[in-house]
Amino acid sequence: MAESSFVCHVCGQTHEGVPPSFAADFPDMYAGLSEADRGSRALISSDQCIIDEQWFFIRGCLEIPILEHDDVFLWGLWASVTEEVFNEISASWEEEGRERRLAPFKARLANSLSVYPETLNLKLRIVIQPLRTRPVFMLEEEHPLAAAQKSGMSRVEATELAANLLHMLGPWSKTPQ
Ligand SMILES: [Zn+2]
Repeated sequence: MAESSFVCHVCGQTHEGVPPSFAADFPDMYAGLSEADRGSRALISSDQCIIDEQWFFIRGCLEIPILEHDDVFLWGLWASVTEEVFNEISASWEEEGRERRLAPFKARLANSLSVYPETLNLKLRIVIQPLRTRPVFMLEEEHPLAAAQKSGMSRVEATELAANLLHMLGPWSKTPQ
């Protein structure tokens, strides 16, 4: 059995090749807008979102190390930032070596992860990565998700989390990386 397949504690089936990776397609604020409001009030791309010309969001990755495996559980999430930070990150989109020039930016998590106590608005810092790599989110306040990011989780915990997310209805998409 490949390491990425596992017997699911929710449905009892074996899931093959489930990547330990889940993504929020949108910031929650955008997800909560009607279709009409999305069209008239918001701008969105795969990595950036602006609502009402006053709410600014950047997409990034929050990694949880999987203990005793050279692997991570990857959350693709959105963070809210100030307009200044949004503009600075946007200006460096194509900049070689940007990860060495830019210090981490303050931000707040823009997604509620239903498998954890409330995560919306958790303080984090955005760490800019080399070209064509999404920024990394590092949580900065005490929270079970922050504890997991700091200390990692076991393979069993990771597969349980993946199974819960697979079977959950909601705005989550499974994203092979
Ligand atoms: Zn299952």
